Order: sequence, then structure tokens, then C-alpha cells
Amino acid sequence: MPFPQHASSAAHPIDTSRLLPSIAAHTDELSKAYGSGETRVVALDRISIAFRSGEFTAIMGPSGSGKSTLMHCVAGLDSPSSGSVRIGTTELGSLGDRQLTQLRRDRLGFIFQAFNLLPTLTALENITLPLAIAGRAVDREWLDTIVMTVGLAGRLGHRPAQLSGGQQQRVAVARALASRPEIIFADEPTGSLDSRAGTEILGFLRDCVRELGQTVVMVTHDPVAAGYADRVVFLADGRLVDEMAQPTAERVLDRLKEFDARERTS
Ligand code: ADP
Ligand code: MG
Repeated sequence: MPFPQHASSAAHPIDTSRLLPSIAAHTDELSKAYGSGETRVVALDRISIAFRSGEFTAIMGPSGSGKSTLMHCVAGLDSPSSGSVRIGTTELGSLGDRQLTQLRRDRLGFIFQAFNLLPTLTALENITLPLAIAGRAVDREWLDTIVMTVGLAGRLGHRPAQLSGGQQQRVAVARALASRPEIIFADEPTGSLDSRAGTEILGFLRDCVRELGQTVVMVTHDPVAAGYADRVVFLADGRLVDEMAQPTAERVLDRLKEFDARERTS
């Protein structure tokens, strides 16, 4: 035998993906237009962006700049007009409707501004509902970890109406985490919460990234919310115009002011 047993061989090549920061999602020249003729709106204009695994990214930009459209296209909720989207190494354009639904269910998590909890189910039942629908077993240990992380212990038997807005959103966050998704997508997740509850949820999301290695992509218009992220990307008119690493609320606010000033003088 030419090589010692533990060395790699052609049958067991070195897994380079573990040496490089892995990419959870990626777009290449992604464009999206709605309508046609005079009513045609270009919501996204050739956006190429990567979202790294274990990173918390905030997407910012003025109203109508394409934030939600970008998130929806990356999450397979909307289809590109041109260009491509990959989740991990899966090209979304190569999937049929059923496969896409399955990918969303098995590999992605969603948190929306409206919590979308079922009122007749308890917190625990709401959290585990997607797993039940998918016919997947509940990993008890993981569930305990999530419930601890989002601080819902002692509330699991409550129905949504018996919980505060902040607690309801925590249930929605726990539900998104329950299936151990590769990426969680959140569109203005604190939009309907008071600032204290909003701050709590953002803290939980950040803890999920730091402690559980979760990947999060969050749309927000709030510099304070963006300050919880590892990276902020800025959209304007459907284009990627800037990005900031290790943002703070203050730096984000300053950057937004610069954009405004540029817009007024251009
Ligand atoms: P944001 O989330 O940054 O506010 P959106 O992604 O919702 O922006 O929208 C980007 C642009 O695309 C806007 O001009 C909006 O009016 C348009 N748009 C979004 N969704 C649709 C749709 N379903 N039909 C037509 N136009 C749309
Ligand atoms: Mg939006």
C-alpha cells in the first residue's frame, strides 16, 4: 500500500469545503422584473451576492429598493426573471415546484413581521408543527436548546393569545429554528414589536448565530436592528450599492445619512 491508512486517496479526497468558509446561499446576476410594458418595474437589477454560513446579514435600503424581493428570490418564494440562486450547492432554477417546496420546508426557516402562529395550538405545538407536517421526528435535545435560547421555558403550554407580542415572536423564532434550517430568512422581524421586545428578539437571533452556528438573513430598515448583524448590505433601486462589516447602529445611521445627502445632490 503506497499510502498510510489515514491519508486521503482518490476514493476519499480531502474535503476542501471544510477549509473554506462555506457559502449558505449565493446569487449570480439575479434580476427580477414585475409587470410588462409601461407598468414594468425592475425590482432587482443583476445582484450577485453570497451569504456565508454562520453569519448574520442584514439587508437595508429605502422602501421599494428590492429588499423583500431579494429575500423572496433567495428563499425560493419568488422566481428570478434572469440570473440564478443557489442554496448551498443546489441551483433553485433546476428544481420543480414540488422539489422547491420540499427544499423550503427541509432546509430553510422563515420569520415574518406577522408571527403567523395558529391560535388554537400551544406554543410547543406551534414550534413543532412544521416538523409534524414534514413527518420528521422532534429532536428533543435540540428543542430544549432552542427553547432555552429563546427563553420560552415555562411558556410552552400557552396559546398565542396568552403570550405577549415579544413572546409570540419568540415562538415564531423557535419554530424557524426547530428543523435546524441551513438559513433563516427574516423580513422586518421586529416591525410589529415594541422596542424592548424587538431588542430581545434581535439578541436571540444573534445568540442563535453565535452559539448555534445559525445563518441568518434579515431585512430591516432599522439601524439598531442592523447593528446586531455581522454584515449589512445596502440596496438602492434594485442594486447592491454598499456593504459594511461589523456594523454598529451609529455607523449604519451615518451611512444612511450619506446616501440621503448624495441622493439630494444628484
Ligand atoms: P422593499 O422590500 O425594499 O420595500 P420590494 O422588494 O417589496 O421593496 O419592492 C421592490 C419594487 O418591486 C417596488 O417598486 C415594488 O413596488 C415592486 N414590487 C414588489 N413586489 C411586486 C409585485 N408582486 N408586483 C409588482 N410589483 C412589485
Ligand atoms: Mg419589504
